[in-house]
Amino acid sequence: MSEEGGTFSEEINSLREAVRLSPDNAPLRQHLADTYLKQGHGEEAEKEYRAALSKDPDNANLKLGLARTFFRLNKQSHSLVVLEDLVKDSRAPGRAFVLYAKLLAGAGDVEQAIIQYRKGVERDPQAADKEFAQRHGIGEDEEDSEVVDGMRRNTLEGGEDEEDEFEDIERPQIKFSDVGGMDQVKEQIELKIIHPLAHKELYEAYGKTIGGGILMYGPPGCGKTHLARATAGEIDASFISVGINDVLDMWIGNSERNLHALFEQARQNAPCVLFFDEVDALGASRTDMKQNAGRMLINQFLAEFDGVDASNEGVLILAATNAPWHLDAAFRRPGRFDRIIFVPPPDTPARASILELQCAGKPLDKVDYPHLAKKTEGFSGADLKAVVDIAIEDKLREAMKSGIPKPMNTKDFVRAAKQQRATTKEWFATARNYALYSNQGGIYDDILDYLKLR
Ligand code: ATP
Repeated sequence: MSEEGGTFSEEINSLREAVRLSPDNAPLRQHLADTYLKQGHGEEAEKEYRAALSKDPDNANLKLGLARTFFRLNKQSHSLVVLEDLVKDSRAPGRAFVLYAKLLAGAGDVEQAIIQYRKGVERDPQAADKEFAQRHGIGEDEEDSEVVDGMRRNTLEGGEDEEDEFEDIERPQIKFSDVGGMDQVKEQIELKIIHPLAHKELYEAYGKTIGGGILMYGPPGCGKTHLARATAGEIDASFISVGINDVLDMWIGNSERNLHALFEQARQNAPCVLFFDEVDALGASRTDMKQNAGRMLINQFLAEFDGVDASNEGVLILAATNAPWHLDAAFRRPGRFDRIIFVPPPDTPARASILELQCAGKPLDKVDYPHLAKKTEGFSGADLKAVVDIAIEDKLREAMKSGIPKPMNTKDFVRAAKQQRATTKEWFATARNYALYSNQGGIYDDILDYLKLR
């Protein structure tokens, strides 16, 4: 899941300032990266760890920081790659092994996970994760646990965390007007989930069923998460964002109860937008999840979705994926994700409006947004945000040198755009093949239309 754009804390701002003044100070850079991570700015943390690693490529703590960041951003495979390399290093911190163990467990390799966890704790007892150890029966009476589908499940009733609220409930302040473009998706969300909520009786009178969710798919960084958050803001609802990591954790730690508790939590906080990011990872086709375990997880998820045991009234379900072709077909049945919406990269007017939104509140001279939009063909919303960030950084650097802060103009942004690449093209290279060769039921017609292949 990506981070919400916007302001940083004072602590971060002063650290950024300090790093700008002494860019070669590695501990300072690490401190900034750690603080980004702690305060939930994963993307910025990733950038900072990478920058620090480019200067000090063997620093084990920086590598661990980067691995933790990937983990938080739900990029498990990236995290695994960093950790696999790191745990070979004799200086690797104990925490690296513990995180490695969690990822291994998430991928179904519990045996290895336990071995790595033990290594980590041996190296650094402070690295111990009580909850993880308990789930896997480590350091306790191991007879109290069993291995199911390659995953060790705790069979003790009522764990310590039974009452835990495991998800953060947000109250987003952003609305549809804070999301540039995406008009078609906004309209679908209004029709399918906002209007039924506001005019329940009317829908019932016409025999129109309420329920089901919307699945958004498309290239990364094009505003799926942003729009889900804005949907909650639009109707003054609470917002719970769930990454695949959280769901896998629920499975490993006795998911029937936890997955149920998650939906319960949403019901108790209704109206509530429950947002599943990277929902494709629940699909059984994933190689890093054992087939049977994946199947059971999907069934549990669907049972909750269908509201078998409780009414899902007031719970709006949205999900996003960059890889809809990995999604289990059962998700697409009526009443579930029966609206599947393609979220394309922003078109020219949408890019102009996203740039304008991202520039709001910044010191600006005249900025020709339509011109900038033309210069940023293929850019995602996240790419455009990066352009604005680059322009700001360049301008700050200039101001530091000259001592005179100047507002930004069109040229500054054009220069910044040249330093940022359009990231949506790679996605289409893959999507094109699925759309051409496994387009059952015309599910990917939107992609073909977008690519003018129909
Ligand atoms: P991913 O698939 O990588 O999770 P995503 O499609 O969910 O990507 P977001 O996380 O919503 O994309 O977008 C990343 C950031 O880019 C947002 O936090 C926001 O700042 C900016 N952004 C993207 N699209 C828009 C938009 N349409 N309007 C305004 N800002 C946008």
